[in-house]
Amino acid sequence: MKKWMALAFAAMLAGTWLGPSAHAAPADAKEAGAPEQRRAAYGQMALLTGLDWEQVAALDQYERTLRKARPKTRPKLGSWAGLYVSTEQWSGMTNPDSDDRDPASIRFFGGIGRDGDGDGKADRSSDIDLLYAQASAVARFGSSPDDFSIGVWEFYHNQRAVQRINQFSLLYRTFGRLDLDGSAFPVPVGTDYSYRSTWGTARGWGGHRTHEGTDIFAGYGLPVRSTCFGVIENMGWNAYGGWRIGIRDADNRYHYYAHLSGFDKSLRSGMTVEPGRTIGWVGSSGYGKPGTSGKFPPHLHYGIYRDRGMIEWAFDPYPLLRQWEKAEYKAKKAKSRR
Ligand SMILES: [Zn+2]
Repeated sequence: MKKWMALAFAAMLAGTWLGPSAHAAPADAKEAGAPEQRRAAYGQMALLTGLDWEQVAALDQYERTLRKARPKTRPKLGSWAGLYVSTEQWSGMTNPDSDDRDPASIRFFGGIGRDGDGDGKADRSSDIDLLYAQASAVARFGSSPDDFSIGVWEFYHNQRAVQRINQFSLLYRTFGRLDLDGSAFPVPVGTDYSYRSTWGTARGWGGHRTHEGTDIFAGYGLPVRSTCFGVIENMGWNAYGGWRIGIRDADNRYHYYAHLSGFDKSLRSGMTVEPGRTIGWVGSSGYGKPGTSGKFPPHLHYGIYRDRGMIEWAFDPYPLLRQWEKAEYKAKKAKSRR
């Protein structure tokens, strides 16, 4: 198959255009800013701006995930707040003093810098000032769901950012907390399945491009479960993946499950799921018109992508799968000992 076609199909698979594949940076050290501390700050900013705390949290989280994807170009300005802005954006493009901290003159020159902690200075290294600057820029348009989306659009001019931030906000609202790190192995541990590391190897069938994911071989009908807390972003047929589901987590990763024999009928696009929730069943659908199946042995193709703002990069899910599998075995053992 021609390379451009493979790329176009890959874009369909992920529901978006894919950039070149890259291995993920090693899991970053524990982010500063305890959830309780951040939760309090979001509540405070919600009171000041009229947004919901979940919306403020989602704005901050989106910026945090962009930094995770591009740490070099988006260095941390405060100690935990996500927002990255240049000195010119902060103080105003025409401001002769690019280090201006005076809220009144920053406002005069159209900078986004604000004083959120009440010390009289709009300080680009203060978490609260950063948070307030971002939240108040978005809140200018109002706080209804539509107004919020408009505010986010005006801030980023990027439809993906609008989608992400609304997804994060929904996750915080549904689960009522910031810590949504839980995980599950995509099929029940202790059942009959096998997988190995195949990152970047040529596909055994199709041969269309290097393999972006891990294949978990199992019999038809084994439950396929969500690996994370997330929002269903895509659900339906695509030419390669067959019946597939794509789930977005609060860390801005896209979890892709392909070749299912079917979906849990109660699920819809836009719904939230938690780790371990059955989303469908192992099958062999794909590589043809809707309904095509049986062109290869049944397996789950599991892929994971990180959103970098305008593009998504696949990274090797194998180490995560091993980690989630181990964690689940451990939890099972602990349970049986009780
Ligand atoms: Zn695969």
